Amino acid sequence: MMDTKTADKAYIAGTYGRFDTALEKGEGARYTDEAGRTLIDFGSGIGVTCFGACDPSWVAAVEAQLHRMAHVSNLYYSAPQTELARMLCERTGMKKVFFGNSGAEANECALKVARKYGEATGRDVIVTLRNSFHGRTIATLAATGQDKFHAHFGPFPAGFRYVEANDPAALDEAMADGRVCGVLMEMIQGEGGVNVLDGDYVRYAARKCAEMDALFMVDEVQTGNGRTGRLYAYMHFGVQPDVFTTAKGLAGGLPMGACVLGEKAENVLGRGDHGSTFGGNPLCAAGAVNVLSRMTGELMAQVTEKGEFIRRELAGVNGVKGITGLGLMLGIATEKPAAQVAADCLRDGLMVLTAHEKVRLLPPLTISFDELKQGLSILKQNL
Ligand SMILES: *Cc1c(COP(=O)(O)O)cnc(C)c1O
Repeated sequence: MMDTKTADKAYIAGTYGRFDTALEKGEGARYTDEAGRTLIDFGSGIGVTCFGACDPSWVAAVEAQLHRMAHVSNLYYSAPQTELARMLCERTGMKKVFFGNSGAEANECALKVARKYGEATGRDVIVTLRNSFHGRTIATLAATGQDKFHAHFGPFPAGFRYVEANDPAALDEAMADGRVCGVLMEMIQGEGGVNVLDGDYVRYAARKCAEMDALFMVDEVQTGNGRTGRLYAYMHFGVQPDVFTTAKGLAGGLPMGACVLGEKAENVLGRGDHGSTFGGNPLCAAGAVNVLSRMTGELMAQVTEKGEFIRRELAGVNGVKGITGLGLMLGIATEKPAAQVAADCLRDGLMVLTAHEKVRLLPPLTISFDELKQGLSILKQNL
């Protein structure tokens, strides 16, 4: 039989640069690979498995639903989906939810909402930030403010404008002609290098959107669901979005995206305006209900504490040029190229991510201090 790496090269479209290991199974913040090595996980499958691998309570919730029914189309009501939507709204002050299966789909929905919101007044322009990342579909690529993702795939849909983050004057200028129906931004640019936006800028953008009657839309795909020490990262900044999107950690390891709509946007989409076969299906919704029901103040305090612990451990260490991020979403600027650090860490038993020129850490929210210490000692050796 072909080994996994050879078969991957033979049969999988070559879109991914993969790390040199084939993972087999996991428990919490530890994975075993096919070579039988144990790896500590500081990546959570890119911020997805918020309780680590095979968390017993999450497995039980998903398994119970699996035995009831895994899937039912959106032509029928189903309790896990409505329960999850109720939880999302009650925890955020938002009003309605549309479920999809990924971050890109959640953002795609937000873009459609903004366009229809502006329709009556002839406004169709959506503003996003340079260095942002919003997904890989054609429309969410158009929203993504990084040219390197745009090569090869044009033409893109029109109606997007890009502005520098943290520059209120640039936002004023982009909105000056009154054609903007929505502004979409990440509170921490994840793929862009773990850059936390200035609080004053975020509040300015929210006010500006309110003044111009444009939807203030926050992409919480990576920052959401407890990752930064608050349920959603916008909560650090004292703003209330008109729309926010989330995915990655939402269902704890099952594919799910949500476009969450506030008062201004709750009734924009009507019957037939949007849809998804799998969106909000009972299995994924059961996973997400388990995740949200465990996002307590106590867990958020632990996330904050663990993030501070990592910062203290890495502060002043040789090879570290700076640390950005919030909670357990951290970017480490390193003297060595980040990709080299990541490869060396993997060789020594630690999985980390990179984002632009930085080493990126997104450990499971429930990682133990022991596992953090072990992982950090491997990281420090390789800085
Ligand atoms: C990962 C990510 C996306 C895309 O999510 P997919 O599930 O891969 O489609 C969109 N926005 C942000 C901020 C992300 O981090």
